[in-house]
Amino acid sequence: MHIGLILLIAAVVAGVGAAVLRLTRKKVESRLCAHCGAPAMHGYSKTAESAVEDIVPLCVPCLLEHLDEDYCNYDGRAVVIQPVAELPCYVFRPKSDWSELLRGELDTLLAGLHSHCTSCSNPARYLWVNALEAGPVAKVPQMGITHTLLAASGARPISLCGRCSVQRIARSFAGQEAGYVEVCGPRGSEDGLITAIGY
Ligand SMILES: [Zn+2]
Ligand SMILES: [Zn+2]
Repeated sequence: MHIGLILLIAAVVAGVGAAVLRLTRKKVESRLCAHCGAPAMHGYSKTAESAVEDIVPLCVPCLLEHLDEDYCNYDGRAVVIQPVAELPCYVFRPKSDWSELLRGELDTLLAGLHSHCTSCSNPARYLWVNALEAGPVAKVPQMGITHTLLAASGARPISLCGRCSVQRIARSFAGQEAGYVEVCGPRGSEDGLITAIGY
């Protein structure tokens, strides 16, 4: 065999070996919470659809601490759809990221936001929408919120402050066995929507 070819094959094998090693090591690390070292459950990022290396593995208590900070510091108003387990991400996206239909719906729904939280009477910024199954939630990007989650149940969204929203999210997370690949809280001052989604 030509010596150049042998060297090339050797280099490829070494390269693949190193890559496999890196991947395995990364996988072991990524199962532990980046904050406290406990087993990690979810990935946390600053914005939706972050690069894999920007998604931090966190245990549930550490994730909820981050979300509490995000939800309490956010300057806009958002509709929060209760997290359902079957979709891989639970993220905030500003209004401008959504379709015309959803932008209009967010305006209409948020116009009905009460000034105070239904649970604790602090100022309200969030409209909580109950969701129990993944099916209707998966249709929200195309069909909007009213037809998928509000019309059938006749439910009305609930006005909440940041802290009470995260408490409800925590209760929903508690019943889930699988983690989300990516969770991010609301950021900035533009109104938006938080929902479970599969990209
Ligand atoms: Zn932790
Ligand atoms: Zn509250």
